[in-house]
Amino acid sequence: MWTHGEESLKRLHDDINKFHPTIRLTMDYSPKSVAFLDTLVSIKDGHLSTSLYRKPTDNLMMLHFSSFHPKHIKEAIPYGQALRVHRICSDEEERNRHLQTLKDALVRTGYGTRLIDRQFQRATAKNRTDLLRRQIWDTTDRIPFVVQYFPGAEKLRHLLHSLQHVIDDDEHLAKVIPTPPLLAFKQPRNLKRTIVCSKLPSLQNSDHDTTQPCHGNLCKTCQIIDMDTTITRENTTHQVRDTYSCDSANVVYLIRCRKGCPEAWYIGETMQTLRQRMNGHRATITRQECSLPVGEHFSSQGHSASDLRVSVLQGGLQDPRQRRIAEQKLIAKFRTHECGLNRDLGFMSHYIHPPPSGLRTPTNCPGLIQFTPL
Ligand SMILES: [Zn+2]
Ligand SMILES: [Zn+2]
Repeated sequence: MWTHGEESLKRLHDDINKFHPTIRLTMDYSPKSVAFLDTLVSIKDGHLSTSLYRKPTDNLMMLHFSSFHPKHIKEAIPYGQALRVHRICSDEEERNRHLQTLKDALVRTGYGTRLIDRQFQRATAKNRTDLLRRQIWDTTDRIPFVVQYFPGAEKLRHLLHSLQHVIDDDEHLAKVIPTPPLLAFKQPRNLKRTIVCSKLPSLQNSDHDTTQPCHGNLCKTCQIIDMDTTITRENTTHQVRDTYSCDSANVVYLIRCRKGCPEAWYIGETMQTLRQRMNGHRATITRQECSLPVGEHFSSQGHSASDLRVSVLQGGLQDPRQRRIAEQKLIAKFRTHECGLNRDLGFMSHYIHPPPSGLRTPTNCPGLIQFTPL
């Protein structure tokens, strides 16, 4: 509520808009009424009164009654909507006008008038003063029993109750599940989720979407940069979606062997620059560290550090967890732990038995590669 007159209100608006060149605030004001969220507050006879505010674009779309949803959800819609109208409107006449609009919309959406009237009655019978108080919802510690909804699912509720004695008979289970589990439904895959994909279609790559040499005087990584935009292994491809260089940090990268050894694929992640990381790999090769897969392959017979080829697969991954997830996804995509130099799956290794170790025999890599285990 502004009590200092229109002129000073406009002055305030001007002042706050001078605060920062890119922040623009708009102002809606009126001496009679103002809308906030779904409430319209007006001054009537010196008092504030509230009513439901609907945006001009609101066409009262609601879940259709023939929709594949549990009965209680469809019953809750007229009730919940009526409750909202009842709570917001301070004037009864105004409330009834909004309820009539709501009823018309519900009828158009397939709801029966008897159901609507019953739920409206339930809602309006509530004491409005109570509704305006902050609601504290009852919580339950009953264990949920979650199933995908299907028309016969309601029968499960009865089944859960009637079989509770089996749990009660067991001393341990009776402690863990003292009351019948709460039947909860989750939505099955509907038509929309089946046919609509919210992912944007892949755009045509620009020629610059590659890893490029930095041309630094002392940079040793420039010589081993692999400038492919599309990286392909068997039927799997990966598009590089940005421009990277030896200076790119927080990336997932791919090492391959210049000699074309099919098994020599290594995917790694780093917060360092690609150059720093490659210097690290190069050091393991020089030291012939056979405990590390990259060191082992590139110091094996006929190989040297100059056989390294590297490209960035994905970048902009500042968050270490996101980076590791991206790395694991790419390892799984290109199967570089089954047929490649990735020896462990990092934090995923706890979930995989037996833990993958080193290079596998070709029989473990059907069709992909033929090589002799080292
Ligand atoms: Zn470079
Ligand atoms: Zn090789």
